[in-house]
Amino acid sequence: MNKKLNNILLLPKRIVTSDAQNRILKNHAVDISDGIISAFIPFEKVREEKYDEVYDAGHLTLIPGFVQTHVHLSQTLFRGLAEDLPLLDWLRLKIFPFENEHNKESLQVTTQLSINELLMGGTTTILDMGTLRHGEVVLSEMISSGIRGFSGKCLIDINDLYPDFKSSLKVEIKDILSLAQNFHNSAEGRIKYSFSPRFVLSCTEELLKETKEIMKDFPGSIYHTHSSESVDEINEVRRRFNKENIEYFDSIGVLDDHSVLAHCVHTSDNERKMLKDRNTRIAHCPSANLKLGSGIAPIPEYLKAGISVTLGADGAPCNNNLSIFNEMRLASLIQKPIHGAETMDAKTIFRMATIEGAKALHLQDEIGSIEVGKKADLVLIDLDSCSNSYTDSDSAVYSDIVFSSTTENVKSVMVDGGWVVKERESLIYDQREIISKGKEELKKLLKRL
Ligand SMILES: [Zn+2]
Repeated sequence: MNKKLNNILLLPKRIVTSDAQNRILKNHAVDISDGIISAFIPFEKVREEKYDEVYDAGHLTLIPGFVQTHVHLSQTLFRGLAEDLPLLDWLRLKIFPFENEHNKESLQVTTQLSINELLMGGTTTILDMGTLRHGEVVLSEMISSGIRGFSGKCLIDINDLYPDFKSSLKVEIKDILSLAQNFHNSAEGRIKYSFSPRFVLSCTEELLKETKEIMKDFPGSIYHTHSSESVDEINEVRRRFNKENIEYFDSIGVLDDHSVLAHCVHTSDNERKMLKDRNTRIAHCPSANLKLGSGIAPIPEYLKAGISVTLGADGAPCNNNLSIFNEMRLASLIQKPIHGAETMDAKTIFRMATIEGAKALHLQDEIGSIEVGKKADLVLIDLDSCSNSYTDSDSAVYSDIVFSSTTENVKSVMVDGGWVVKERESLIYDQREIISKGKEELKKLLKRL
């Protein structure tokens, strides 16, 4: 990761804070000391000689780094290789066989490609699902890349869809204990462990329950799984357990405020009440839900009920990219024909991708907004490009970010006060190199199939 300077001063055109008042500041510099936002200083009071670096960001807007609460770093190598399939076939025919063939080299390069794409697109914090083997490769790469987030071994001890891709209860428990001990709160707390049962159909009840028990020894860790994504999946859950997916999770005691459930497209009234009562968090992945034909999650109802909803791109093969901008845009637009044009306004969506994401991961005291005392996970974005609005008022700021921007508008990114992307250049990876390494490893992996 780029060497951190102790003291940086940023001078943006404006600062969209995402704080409790949604303040937008103008003519203010941001003082960053030892990775922490330490002051907002009016331009006329700035004393430049105090700083290791003074960065005049000109017409760029400063926003908090984005938070994605559901991604699969291990799958990025498989982009474009699993098209036009519904969830269970997509897993059975493509994704499980592919993930099953990962070795350490292919897993490392897919992680590098993913983190590169996420950081270049302004995402600075992730909750990753991991994969079945070599979890240490993903966590080590997250540490060295400079990104913030959670990952862990993806847990599978039954697999009717693709029986080769599974482990045993005993091995799974042994592995998560050692990984969590080695990696939880590593890199000065930037990397945390997430306990990641793949989904209800791939885990025994013992595995789901024991994992939740173990988690109690690792405060600040997250229980991360998929739930209620497709109709075929919930039909199978009903057949096996005679319950709805979330009812089953609740009956075995794995839902609480440190549980993040990806998708929740198909839920009953009773399940929504459970989500609310348990304060369980939902990771909404609109691109993946559309592409796999899973459906449209009832997000406005969840928000109305006071359930936490955040955003994630899911895996590259069901999206096909990792852009938070696509997820923000779709999260709003897909609801409007159903619930009316006034629903899911741009400000609400922007908060879901920043401070609400941080809250879902219990990181709201550290990140998610631009406030004094928080870590400097920041993005400089160009909202004066030819595809943005032409007004100088702040009224269009949120729609400019959510509806008009793409990852191309992201110019520079820092995590913990260290630059990871500067003026569209990655300071972490040689992009040509990781692409060519990725192609090479993919070729080898496909030969192993
Ligand atoms: Zn997923």
